[in-house]
Amino acid sequence: MRASPIQPTVDFNADGEQHGFLKLPHSHDVSAWGAEMIPITVIRNGEGPTALLTGGNHGDEYEGPIALSKLAGALKASDVCGRVIIVPFMNFPAFRAGTRTSPIDRGNLNRSFPGKPDGTVTEKIADYFQRYLLPLADHVLDLHAGGRTLDFVPFAAIHVLPDAAQQARCEAAMRAFGAPYSMRMLELDSVGLYDTAVEEAGKVFVSTELGGGGTATVQSVAITERGVRGFLQHAGILEQDEAMGHSNASGPRTTTLLDMPDGTCYTTSEHDGLLELCKDLGEMVELGEVIARIHDAKRTGAAPIEYRTRRAGMLAARHFPGLVRIGDTVAVVADVLERGIPVTV
Ligand code: CA
Repeated sequence: MRASPIQPTVDFNADGEQHGFLKLPHSHDVSAWGAEMIPITVIRNGEGPTALLTGGNHGDEYEGPIALSKLAGALKASDVCGRVIIVPFMNFPAFRAGTRTSPIDRGNLNRSFPGKPDGTVTEKIADYFQRYLLPLADHVLDLHAGGRTLDFVPFAAIHVLPDAAQQARCEAAMRAFGAPYSMRMLELDSVGLYDTAVEEAGKVFVSTELGGGGTATVQSVAITERGVRGFLQHAGILEQDEAMGHSNASGPRTTTLLDMPDGTCYTTSEHDGLLELCKDLGEMVELGEVIARIHDAKRTGAAPIEYRTRRAGMLAARHFPGLVRIGDTVAVVADVLERGIPVTV
């Protein structure tokens, strides 16, 4: 396969702190010999494990970009053992536009793996991660949130994997991230996911959903920053600090283990209209309980359509905007497997 057109301006094998770019040639109307300049930071201190940390895989999710921008600016080589590669805005054109997909080619980066070196801009980014960055990494963390159209209880997530030993390593890293919730996630369609590419490469992989609505909050950013530290400590790259596991005076920090075992977790809209969620995120629901009503947005006097849950559990995700369209995910109900699991790195 041909080489990637992307050229890094950093040396992945040099010690110290480097802030540079992945330079992706992109010729267009306002820049004939132009390039997309994707920011990247490499912090290295000798031999040791490598962590690859990414945000902005979808361009309208902000906890990852904020936490990783702060980390890139603050982390010193003397703080680490090994190497940290930070790409806060993975699909940079999408991030700059504030949209889930790229404005250049409408590419959804998280559906574009393994990518192509001679494909679209988005496929070129995927290919560079697939063939150049993933082989450098041992531990991979991809920070997502709900974007403009979804909102989540804050969780770190792993997938059920064919290799039980690899899954156990991912679970341990997820618990070290120590979000309020930890999720075994079901992907309805895993083709093209960065997750799948990382897992098939045998890496320790954790992803997250840390909020949503196309913004970030004080709380969701704090969860993210604490989680990234825990992840790096678990990888043996950052020293463990004594405060770990003790977020406040009320005792050790804990996480609640959630599971999404099958498609009955999802409620999908079959109507267009005005959405009334009947539960808030984190609330428990019974099997068959009304989880949402969709009101006719064009007339008064019509009864709303009721949507009932197909399993009991906790509302873990919801459609964010007030209007809903047919095909939108309205709600996700997760099983609560275990509460009060202590966070340890
Ligand atoms: Ca996402």
